Amino acid sequence: MKITRRRLMATGTAALAASALPRMAWTQTTLSMGDTEITTLSDGTLTLPAEFIFGPMPQDELAGVLAPLGVDPGAPLTPPCNLTLLRRGDVLALFDAGSGLSFQPTAGMLPDALAAAGIDPFDVTHVIFTHGHPDHLWGMLDDFDEPYFANAEHMMGGVEFDYWMDDATVGSIGEERAAFAVGAKRRLEVVADAMTRFGDGDEVLPGVVAALTPGHTPGHMGFVIGEGADAVMVLGDAIGNDHVAFARPGWVSGSDQDPERAAATRLAMFDRITADEMAVIGFHLGGGGIGRVAAEGEGYRFVPEA
Ligand SMILES: [Zn+2]
Repeated sequence: MKITRRRLMATGTAALAASALPRMAWTQTTLSMGDTEITTLSDGTLTLPAEFIFGPMPQDELAGVLAPLGVDPGAPLTPPCNLTLLRRGDVLALFDAGSGLSFQPTAGMLPDALAAAGIDPFDVTHVIFTHGHPDHLWGMLDDFDEPYFANAEHMMGGVEFDYWMDDATVGSIGEERAAFAVGAKRRLEVVADAMTRFGDGDEVLPGVVAALTPGHTPGHMGFVIGEGADAVMVLGDAIGNDHVAFARPGWVSGSDQDPERAAATRLAMFDRITADEMAVIGFHLGGGGIGRVAAEGEGYRFVPEA
């Protein structure tokens, strides 16, 4: 095991966190599939202006779609952030790394969630990114800018990695997300030489297949774990909330970098998920993030497992 400065600090705080926090608040939902156990861990919540998601949507129809779901179209949104942990034999794989402490004050809680679940970050074997946004990536480094999961293999889709490593991205991404580009490049540079890059359809772990799901970001990846009706799909942000993304998946969303492409991806994903009757795990879905998709009206409804 590689000993870093972070480890010396982590030991004390982890013990404190584990004793001070109720376990269920952090370890959210667990799904068992044969020899594979999948658990979601909370990294906390974000606070987003309603405009960030709802801005480009048909405003005359929006309130009517959101009302039955209990969502106020004018109030800030506070989506949960669910990381997916996969355990199988010697594999302890984490999908995304959370926000870390420099994005939003209500996020970056993953270290507490890991401690409450009795997991040492040094035992994580793989960190597999869906995409390079701050709430998924920035938690990969510790306070000393060293990899927080020091013994893990870091893995990202090749298109996504190249996009965030490109010096031109900060100039092309738009003012609203320029800080995302700077923050992603700075962090990815730390592990760039060791980063494992994968493509659409690649098996990132045995029985875990990457699915290119672009639009939210240029190289966003989902992952299908298992097969057929026993499969579960890690959605990342390609289906980014449990309200309007389900009820009107074809609507463009302000949270997607290429909204038209993201809407087409979302519709295709729902087709695949419902045809195969897969379970889903969504980074920003409620009820712990693991659930099923039910057809409803013009769209779908998220049915949490918990
Ligand atoms: Zn995102």
